[in-house]
Amino acid sequence: MTSSKILDGRAIAQAIKHELLRELRALPQRPTLAVLSFSTQTSEVYLRAQKEQAESLGILMRGQTASGAVTQEEVEAVIQRWNDDPGIHGIFVHQPMPPQIDAQRLSTVINPQKDIEGIHPQHSARRFFAKARIGSCTALAVMRLIEESGVSLEGKEAVVVGHSEIVGRPVSMLLLDQLATTTVCHLGTTKAGRLEEHVRRADVLVVAIGRPRLIKGAWIKPGAIVIDVGINVVGGQVVGDVEFEAATARAAFITPVPGGVGPVTVMMVMKNTLEAFKLQRAEGRPSP
Ligand code: NAP
Repeated sequence: MTSSKILDGRAIAQAIKHELLRELRALPQRPTLAVLSFSTQTSEVYLRAQKEQAESLGILMRGQTASGAVTQEEVEAVIQRWNDDPGIHGIFVHQPMPPQIDAQRLSTVINPQKDIEGIHPQHSARRFFAKARIGSCTALAVMRLIEESGVSLEGKEAVVVGHSEIVGRPVSMLLLDQLATTTVCHLGTTKAGRLEEHVRRADVLVVAIGRPRLIKGAWIKPGAIVIDVGINVVGGQVVGDVEFEAATARAAFITPVPGGVGPVTVMMVMKNTLEAFKLQRAEGRPSP
């Protein structure tokens, strides 16, 4: 039995922060990030982490917290105002959104030059052609954590569990770009009783489902890289989608929850704000 090397998200986030600080200090102006959050516990925790990192990097942050009863028209009006404001360089909307909000429709309203989560269809199309300029912050964090292992993805069996638009799908595209043989699992896979079989052959396993410890440690292929995106609160404790202790005995590399994907994702939000700022300077002011 092996014991895994922990992929320490906090340490990796610090390293990215140093790279960002070098670039940010050389800019003639501080980038501004606008964040729309919702009055839920998870949104508030995420917002606090974003504020803390933005402040430490010198990125200005403007925020608006919408109530759970906010309407589509109200949300779109906020985004439109931020689109039109030349002092705002990045726009980020927290997910999940309240059920009455049509996230797909909203993704078409955000100016793509300011869309730092890469949800606008223009970004999805570029991702499809492996030409993404701004990608999903979580997907970029997953790839950065895999890169940290030093293992080449070419020819590896990669299994992604979860196919959401902001995590599973973009991650699977990025894995394909690195020539990993990529399988995407979802509820259909579980219902067919075939999730374990796919997980067992994964050299690289990325899990983003939001189901506490659904992936059993005994399913992990010895020597695998395991990236656990899930955030679940069980008995007041934050746990991932993978049985961490049992998985550590088999994986070569594994991310903890908390302290794995989360801190790197927050730093990717900051990195993408910088990317959006640079894009706008290179291409001119975004058209409203
Ligand atoms: P989501 O939009 O709810 O998507 C969940 C995905 O999991 C869906 O594709 C769903 O498939 C699949 N799924 C659900 N139950 C399943 C099961 N029993 N077996 C197989 N697949 C199943 O969630 P998300 O936004 O992708 O987030 C996933 C998790 O990651 C959540 O815990 C979230 O809090 C966390 N997260 C963490 C970060 C971070 O920075 N650490 C960032 C984003 C999200 P179907 O559509 O087929 O039902």
